[in-house]
Amino acid sequence: MAKELTLELSKSQSEGQRVCPLCKAIFRLFGTAGMLSVGDVVLGHLCEKCLLSGPKGAAARVRARANELRSLLASSDRFLSGEEWVRLHRSIWKRVDDWDSLAARIEKMRW
Ligand SMILES: [Zn+2]
Repeated sequence: MAKELTLELSKSQSEGQRVCPLCKAIFRLFGTAGMLSVGDVVLGHLCEKCLLSGPKGAAARVRARANELRSLLASSDRFLSGEEWVRLHRSIWKRVDDWDSLAARIEKMRW
C-alpha cells in the first residue's frame, strides 16, 4: 500500500531558497510553510502558489508538469536517434506516470 501523503503546516525554522516538490518553482521560504511528506520521507516545502491554491490547484500544477513532459516527448521524435529516443521515452514515461499518480493523490488531500 502507498504511504500516506501528509502536509504539515508549521512556522519554518530556517529561511532560504527552496524548490517546490510539486511544481519545481524556486522560492524563498519564510514564515509559515507547508511541508509535504510521504510516510516519514519529507518531500519538501510547498511554494506559496501550490499552498494557497489548495489540493486541486496544486494537483493541476503537477499535471501541468506531466503534460510538459508529454509534449517534450512528442517533440523529441524529431531530434533523437532510435536508441536515444527509446531510452529517453522509457525514463520520461515513468516520470509522467509518477507525476500523474502524485496529482491524483494530492487532489484527495485537504489543506
Ligand atoms: Zn509549487
